[in-house]
Amino acid sequence: MRAIRVHQFGGPDVLKLEEIPDPKPGAGEIVVRVRAAGVNPVDAYMHTGTYARKPPLPYTPGFDGAGEIESVGADVKGFAAGDRVYIAGPGNTVSGAGTYADKALCSPSQLHPLPARASFGQGAALGVPYCTAYRALFQRAGARPGEVVLVHGATGGVGLASVEFAHARGLTVIGSGGTDKGLATVRDHGGDVLVNHKSPAYTDEIVRATGGRGVDVIVEMAAHVNLDRDLGLLAKHGRVVVVGNRGRVEIDARQAMGRDAAILGMTLFNVNERDMAEIHAALIAGLAGGALNPVVGRELPLADASKAHEHIMEPGALGKIVLVP
Ligand code: NAP
Repeated sequence: MRAIRVHQFGGPDVLKLEEIPDPKPGAGEIVVRVRAAGVNPVDAYMHTGTYARKPPLPYTPGFDGAGEIESVGADVKGFAAGDRVYIAGPGNTVSGAGTYADKALCSPSQLHPLPARASFGQGAALGVPYCTAYRALFQRAGARPGEVVLVHGATGGVGLASVEFAHARGLTVIGSGGTDKGLATVRDHGGDVLVNHKSPAYTDEIVRATGGRGVDVIVEMAAHVNLDRDLGLLAKHGRVVVVGNRGRVEIDARQAMGRDAAILGMTLFNVNERDMAEIHAALIAGLAGGALNPVVGRELPLADASKAHEHIMEPGALGKIVLVP
């Protein structure tokens, strides 16, 4: 089969398309024929070799994907050849068998049924983005119906997922983006108020939209740029969840004190089994019922994985980038 392999750490050109032997499922393992693989910023961090998680070389990148089960090993229950599934969670990725390939060797805990109304591309958009969005909003910030959330960076994978989950739960959603096209997509997926984070006075628009009260929750994709001004945008008892951060930032902690505000970190790698089960149950119900409609902004052939990694680090996000084997 064909797979993207990384033999040395470095820039996007370390991603090479190669022929490697087909995986065979051992006991408790499942082989999925990958129809689409989701590209996440974390995939691009990992091949640099400077990220907190450093996979052993060589490895195939990719945490997320969707496809059909090809074969199951001994002792596997609840899955059969031909089932449509989405792949989510580290599983074998950490030991070198990711989703950027024709076939992926998975453990049952990585696989979930893909509702019939979702395409394979949409299935590949679920794992990291939707799990992160749910985790940030409901398990970290405790967002409740009737509250106001600012999705700071609403046009990308995690952002649009956050907009959809928050809208479905009855929150008022303020979404920020850097392009008109991205913001129009945010509106179509449940954004109530749209602001452009490239315009100089966009934070005034956010304050005005809340009648001066501030927002209850911020899901933050770029804390290294925004954390200090986020604190000034919060209502009393407000919460900022730091989802994305690419550098150091200085804050005025007094802004948090005066509001009894909380800054909450999160990484998906820390989610326990029980919380993860809650996340996937919500995700599958939302997908089957139509509340969730993942946006696939760009599809590229598997061979263009390095191009996909360049795009994922550029501004102008529009939902998800997926690789199609
Ligand atoms: P993505 O699809 O590339 O989207 C990036 C988002 O950030 C876009 O909406 C982009 O908006 C926005 N953005 C760019 N500059 C911004 C600014 N100055 N202020 C606010 N937003 C800005 O990436 P993603 O998959 O959604 O991930 C978002 C971030 O979260 C990444 O840094 C990623 O590494 C991180 N992440 C963390 C976890 C975790 O477990 N903590 C999990 C998943 C992702 P425009 O392009 O429209 O300007």
